[in-house]
Amino acid sequence: MKKEYAVIGLGRFGGSICKELSREGMEVLAIDVDEDKVNEYKDIASHAVIADSTDENVLKELGIRNIDHVIVAIGDNIQASILSTLMLKELGIKKITVKAQNDYHEKVLNKIGADQVVHPERDMGKRIAHNIISNNVLDYLELSDDHSVVEVKAGEKMIGKTLVDLDIRARYGCNVVGIKRDREINVSPMATETILENDVLIIIGEDKDISRFEKNLVVEDDD
Ligand code: ATP
Repeated sequence: MKKEYAVIGLGRFGGSICKELSREGMEVLAIDVDEDKVNEYKDIASHAVIADSTDENVLKELGIRNIDHVIVAIGDNIQASILSTLMLKELGIKKITVKAQNDYHEKVLNKIGADQVVHPERDMGKRIAHNIISNNVLDYLELSDDHSVVEVKAGEKMIGKTLVDLDIRARYGCNVVGIKRDREINVSPMATETILENDVLIIIGEDKDISRFEKNLVVEDDD
């Protein structure tokens, strides 16, 4: 049977989750207290309803118990977000993803049993900060507190050299897991692969090692 989703809170974050799930052909129940927001998603989601998710009876009437995965995307009203999560937990929802507004909110959500807590503003802030520090860092994905995956534009010192020449793993302790070239991506490149101008390297490793690698091999673009 097809998995069913519900998105509570149709702000920018919840709205984009709802649109993407629907675009992927998923069954989505969109919920918001705001009538205008609900109207906006009438033709996008499978069902769109005006409802207050802090009201247990309302949630029951909506048949939320039958939904496999509920995404709580209420931001500003932290109390409503926490209460909704509690209700959903009590109703026995199998998977609950909640958007946290700050670190305290995140802590509470973890304590009350949210299965997944996301912090999109903080994560986006970190990604952009890495790009601000070095124009050559194109993207950044945090894997844990001290491990990441980064996409870096090949610096001048790398061009024309092979991965063996650069000896990145031995020298810096991080691994090149992919090379993007002309929209193609070479996953697990061979050690004999030569780096060309405009190549983008995908590097995985400990943050301190990645940072050493960037300082030594990735030349900053100063603009
Ligand atoms: P964005 O994702 O746009 O940054 P945000 O983090 O600012 O959003 P809010 O705008 O506070 O989040 O909330 C998102 C949506 O959640 C709003 O459309 C709001 O009407 C809805 N909402 C707030 N409380 C409830 C509730 N109790 N039940 C259902 N929807 C709610």
